[in-house]
Amino acid sequence: MRLGHQPGDVVRLVIESDQPLHPHVSLIANPYRVVIDLPAVEWTIGDGEGKGLGYVAKYRYGLFAVDQSRLVLDLDAPATIKRSFAIEPNSRFAHRYVIDLEPAAHGAFVSATHNAKPRTPESRPTAVVPERPQRKPLIVLDAGHGGNDPGARSVLGRYEKDLTLEVAREVQRQLEATGQFHAVLTRERDIYVPLRARTAMARASNADLFISIHADSIADPNHRGGSVYTLSETASDAEAAALAAKENKSDIIAGIDLAAESEEVTSILIDLAQRETMNYSARFASALIETVPREWLIARRPHRFAGFLVLKAPDVPSVLFEIGYLSNRQDAQWIASRKGRQEIAGAITQAARRFFADRMAQQF
Ligand SMILES: [Zn+2]
Repeated sequence: MRLGHQPGDVVRLVIESDQPLHPHVSLIANPYRVVIDLPAVEWTIGDGEGKGLGYVAKYRYGLFAVDQSRLVLDLDAPATIKRSFAIEPNSRFAHRYVIDLEPAAHGAFVSATHNAKPRTPESRPTAVVPERPQRKPLIVLDAGHGGNDPGARSVLGRYEKDLTLEVAREVQRQLEATGQFHAVLTRERDIYVPLRARTAMARASNADLFISIHADSIADPNHRGGSVYTLSETASDAEAAALAAKENKSDIIAGIDLAAESEEVTSILIDLAQRETMNYSARFASALIETVPREWLIARRPHRFAGFLVLKAPDVPSVLFEIGYLSNRQDAQWIASRKGRQEIAGAITQAARRFFADRMAQQF
């Protein structure tokens, strides 16, 4: 794909493809974005982003849902679609799809958003919930980010979304290997899954525990160590609040604003059902902090609280595990290594054993 200037302050986007394309183009305000949905496209340069042109600040693209790709243009100023059309291939070019943008007033942009709403993402869980005749505890593992939302970037150049998926797979393998648990993933590949779909999946499958796996990145390259977060309306500290705000942006990054949806309803549910769940979440957090190697868990306050959207399933004990800092070389190397993954998974498995042993003991 390429961007070019046209007369009349028009920015032209051309997507070239070896097959004819019929994209679904939509606009989203706050911030201004153009969202272009395509059938699953093999991006010749993988998922990623690029520099924009004129009022197009930048563009991002990637696999958005099963069989669906998404290209998002981030705009510095409101602009609407002037025209869009397909061009047949010729001797020089393959199939092309052209979208011309022209500057517009804020009001015109907003009314255009109503005519062209983005498609709802595929929110069907990607994992199959296994049958549970013996009622083994079901643990849902959530690899943070994915698809259009890469998360943090490590000092070694790898993306959080890929590292969290590798870790989650190893955790699943070790949990299943105990024969005591069932473990499923909220995503099994590099795909965007809305935050609410992740918690919805945990609830729909009647999960006994939800573990969201992330790796943070901050300005200070010396800061390292893991932290375990549980949900709270008030954050334990400013840093935790900032982190929650960052992680909650996932849906906005992927081009849709689901985050603000039914916030009030969620709060009510939290009041009613979440108190007990929060206790269990805190217990698992403590178990995890006890099982991870000391030298690794050197964050000043290993158990912290903040308003993470992904932890808001009111009836499933949920923790968010920031396994380390991708901005720190040691952490980044360790997280990306096979040994590191195995140690992280070992700690989580050990913590799950303790947590469920305690729960069983309380029930009888
Ligand atoms: Zn993250």
